[in-house]
Amino acid sequence: MVHRSVNPPQRGWSLTAPPPLWAELEQHLFRDDDDEHGAVILAGLAYGPRGPRLLARELLLAEDGIDYVAGTTGYRALRPEFVRDAALRARTEKLAYLAVHNHFGTTSANFSPVDFASHERGYPALRKITKQLVGALVLTPQAAAGDLWLPDGTRHLLAEVTVPGGSLVRLTPAPTTVETSDTRHDRQARLFGDRGQQAFGRMRAAVVGLGGVGSIATELLARLGVGHLVLIDADTIDETNLPRLVAAEPDDVGRLKTELAVRNARRANPDIELTVVTENVQHPDALRALVGCDWIFLAADTNAARHWVDRTVHQYLIPATQAGVKVPVDEHGTVGRIHVAVRQLVPGRGCMWCNKLISPTELALDMLPDRVREQARYVDGVPAPSVIALNSLAAGEAVNHFMLAVTGLHTDNGEHSRLLFPRSGEHVLQRSRQTANCLTCSPAGILAQGDAPAVAER
Ligand SMILES: [Zn+2]
Ligand SMILES: [Zn+2]
Repeated sequence: MVHRSVNPPQRGWSLTAPPPLWAELEQHLFRDDDDEHGAVILAGLAYGPRGPRLLARELLLAEDGIDYVAGTTGYRALRPEFVRDAALRARTEKLAYLAVHNHFGTTSANFSPVDFASHERGYPALRKITKQLVGALVLTPQAAAGDLWLPDGTRHLLAEVTVPGGSLVRLTPAPTTVETSDTRHDRQARLFGDRGQQAFGRMRAAVVGLGGVGSIATELLARLGVGHLVLIDADTIDETNLPRLVAAEPDDVGRLKTELAVRNARRANPDIELTVVTENVQHPDALRALVGCDWIFLAADTNAARHWVDRTVHQYLIPATQAGVKVPVDEHGTVGRIHVAVRQLVPGRGCMWCNKLISPTELALDMLPDRVREQARYVDGVPAPSVIALNSLAAGEAVNHFMLAVTGLHTDNGEHSRLLFPRSGEHVLQRSRQTANCLTCSPAGILAQGDAPAVAER
């Protein structure tokens, strides 16, 4: 069941690029020679509350002097054979075709009259060949503009380019205006700036799992000023949950966890918009709600939740943070190495399969109907320990990461995962591993395919 309190205004066309692809493009375009360079991006497409989103899947670099040559009317142009090959791939793979070049300047980007004239000469025919969206992108180091030609004959400007890495980069054609933050958020805005505070207000974040970690994350996100939360959990509250759920009362036993989360989010911010899904994350309603988000917090510790959130991260280029706590206690009551894990799931970097964080056996069990699953689990019934103070470490670390990423305050690339060991005080940073041609996180698989995955699924 999905409730939508308000229909959000439709946002304009945007392009989202996986951080590895974008880094390669920037390196190609912005060199010490201060010259113009070219490339083509092939992109998937997704429709949703964030407006129509192009999802950069493949980058074809045009080599100077061979693929990117002196133009007959403009300064330089992509060689016709290069365009033809790229266009045929776009047609075969059902991807949008975007020609990219750079201009000089910093905080604003505009096509020149010569650029526009070449689009008008070339794109109607190219659109007929590819039967897909075609267009162009012009970049400066801090700005992006796009001219999009749709198969239905309409033409649109690109509103924004997003690169969802450890720093959430957003490029627009020109600097955007910023409203002064409300008094309530004054102390935060002194850290994030009005621009940062406004960015939270315009974001839609999902919390998957509203138990010990998710309950605290919801409270933090709502108080931080995130404008829209998507709350996903199918469970009801039992008596053993009461010590760990924010503001839970004895009367809440038997109520849905989403109900308590809604109450807390509204108390923290009466203006917040909420989408509530009382289903497990693999339910189609939950998946549909997830793909409309700017960020996902994974606070449910099943293999099914990991798998479906991980897929969404790579297929739709939506960043996610997994937050969890492990408290190992053996059958003699001996307490092992307690650890708090906060992992960054960065689109196009190694996925949870690449990092061996999903067990195929456990995933298969999670996907069975409830009753069958209980029978299939041979050893069952001993609940894992769970404590609010440990959960708060995980939730706090996850939301802090998000807040620094959105406001560009990480001092490194922000893509590290972090393991904390409260018993010894140690902590470890981990880099994500990636296997070649992974079916989840690379262009050999579902990366950036959006609404129309054409490649074999895992
Ligand atoms: Zn140009
Ligand atoms: Zn992978």
